[in-house]
Amino acid sequence: MLAPSRDTWQPRALCRGNHSHLFFPPSTFERKDERERREMRAKAICRVCPVREECLETALAIREPYGIWGGLTEQERREYILRSV
Ligand code: SF4
Repeated sequence: MLAPSRDTWQPRALCRGNHSHLFFPPSTFERKDERERREMRAKAICRVCPVREECLETALAIREPYGIWGGLTEQERREYILRSV
């Protein structure tokens, strides 16, 4: 799978700027309930993001190992890839 060019979709990403901290775990310890709350907030942004499809395609194509991309966590993307083969 060829990843869509980031130049075309990243400027329209809703996670740019103030929300970016929701999409990746903090450098300090994060409890399970904190992680779930953070991921829920990030996914809510992804649901209304105009470039969700391109973002997810990119993350799947490059096997992005970290963070929430296109509304899926790294674990959910791994499961998606396993189901697709
Ligand atoms: S789908 Fe989510 S992670 Fe991807 S660009 Fe949009 S807000 Fe960011």
